[in-house]
Amino acid sequence: MSDISVEDFAAEVEAWLADNAEPAKASTTDSEIVWGAGEFSVSVFHALEHEAEKELLETIKAWQQKKAEKGYHAITWPVEYGGLGLSKAHARAYSKLEKGYQVPDRHECHSVTVGLIAPTINAFGTEEMKNDLVAKFLSCEALCCQLFSEPGAGTDLANLGCKADLDGDEWVLNGQKVWSSAAQFSEWGELIARSDPDAPKHKGMTAFMVPMDLPGIEVRPIKQMSGGQSFNEVFFSDVRIPDSLRLGPVGEGWKVALTTLGFERDHSETGATSAKAGGSWRQLLATAQAVGVTDDPHIRQRLMEVYIHTRVEAMTMRRAADLAKGGTPGPEGSLGKLMWTEGMTLMSDVVSEVLGPRLIADTGEWGTYEWHEHVLGAPGYRIAGGSDEVQRNIVGERVLGLPGEPRVDKGIAWKDVPR
Ligand SMILES: Cc1cc2nc3c(=O)[nH]c(=O)nc-3n(C[C@H](O)[C@H](O)[C@H](O)COP(=O)(O)OP(=O)(O)OC[C@H]3O[C@@H](n4cnc5c(N)ncnc54)[C@H](O)[C@@H]3O)c2cc1C
Repeated sequence: MSDISVEDFAAEVEAWLADNAEPAKASTTDSEIVWGAGEFSVSVFHALEHEAEKELLETIKAWQQKKAEKGYHAITWPVEYGGLGLSKAHARAYSKLEKGYQVPDRHECHSVTVGLIAPTINAFGTEEMKNDLVAKFLSCEALCCQLFSEPGAGTDLANLGCKADLDGDEWVLNGQKVWSSAAQFSEWGELIARSDPDAPKHKGMTAFMVPMDLPGIEVRPIKQMSGGQSFNEVFFSDVRIPDSLRLGPVGEGWKVALTTLGFERDHSETGATSAKAGGSWRQLLATAQAVGVTDDPHIRQRLMEVYIHTRVEAMTMRRAADLAKGGTPGPEGSLGKLMWTEGMTLMSDVVSEVLGPRLIADTGEWGTYEWHEHVLGAPGYRIAGGSDEVQRNIVGERVLGLPGEPRVDKGIAWKDVPR
C-alpha cells in the first residue's frame, strides 16, 4: 500500500465512500450553498443536551471504526497502529473526497483523542502503553480528555497543584482540574500532576493516563455561554493508579504537556481537526446575499477582508503541512492557531454587521439567527489551548528570539512560590 500513488488511492477512496456513505446534500457542502435548503450550521461548539451529545459521539465513533476497517482513520500512521503509512498528500486527498459525503459532525473529543493524545502517547508512552492505547484512540474505540488546567493554573499551567504521591508502586491523586472538555464522555484522561512540590514548578510535574471510571473521580459539567456543556470540573479524591500508567519519566510532565499543546496548536491541514469548527466564507457570503447587503460598500469591504484572511490562512496551512518534517510540533504552531482564531473573530464581527438585529432576535428566517452560535462560541478558541496573548508571547520569544517575560519564580521550589 505504501507505494500507491495519490491518484490511485483517491480512486479507491472514492469507490469506498460511494459504497459506505450518502453523498452530501447541496446545502451542506461548502462549494454549493442552496439558500433555505436543509440544515444551516455555523456553530463552534455543540449546544446539545447530554443524551444528544452522547448520541453524536456514538455516530462519530462508529464512522471512525468503519474507516478503521480500511485504515482511512489513520492514513499517515504506521501499519502497526492500524494506519496505512502513507503521505500527507494521501491524507489530504481523503479529506477532500470525504467532504462530498454525509459523515458525522465534528466534535472536539474526537480531535483531542485522535489528534492530540494518541500522538503524545506515541512520543512518550512505553511500548506496552503504545500497544494498549494508540490504536484504540486512533479508531476512537475509547475517547480521551485533557486534564491540564486548574482554577489557579491556566496560562501559567506550570503552577498546577493537583497532587500525585507515590505509594509503593501506585500513585495517589488528589486535587481539581477545570475546563476539561468532554471529560463526561471520555474513558481516559491525560493528567498532568504535581509529583514533587520541592522542585521548581516546571520540574516537579509528571504525566499519567488515567481511566476516568476509577473510584474517587467526580466529573461535574459546566454550562457555557454558547449553550452546551462541553467542559467540566474534575475532582480527584485518593484516586489510585499503577506506575505503569505514568506517561514519560517522573518530573517530565511539563515536556509531555507542551507536546500535547503543540499538537493542539498545530492547525496545518493535517493538524487539529477542531480547525474545521465554525462558519465558512461561503456561508457568510450566502447570508449577506440573502439579507440583501452586498451592494453596501462598507459591507463589501468587510466581506473582502474575510475572504482574504480565509485564503491567506488556507495557503499558510498548506505551506505548513508541506514544510512539516513530522515529529512533535514546535512553536510555529502558535502562528497557525493565531491565524485561525483571528479569522473566526473577524468572521463573527463581520456577520454581526451583516445581520444586525437578526443576530439576537430569531425572526425564523433560515440561516440568520443560527450565527449567534458562532458569535458566542468563537471566543472559546481564543482561550483554549493557550490564549491569543500567550501565542504572541511564544512567537515573540521562541520564533523571533525577543527577551523572555520576567520570571520571579525561577528556581524557587513550587511549594515556596507565593500564591
Ligand atoms: C473552549 C475551551 C476548552 C478548553 N478545554 C480544556 C481542556 O480540555 N483541558 C484543559 O486542561 N483545559 C482546557 N481549557 C482551559 C484553557 O487551557 C485555559 O482556559 C487557558 O489556558 C487560559 O487559562 P485561564 O482560563 O486560567 O486564564 P488566565 O490564565 O487566568 O488568563 C486570563 C487572561 O490573562 C491573559 N494572560 C495571562 N497571562 C498572560 C501573560 N503572561 N501575557 C499576556 N497575557 C496573559 C490571558 O491571555 C487571558 O486573556 C479550555 C478552555 C476553553 C475556553
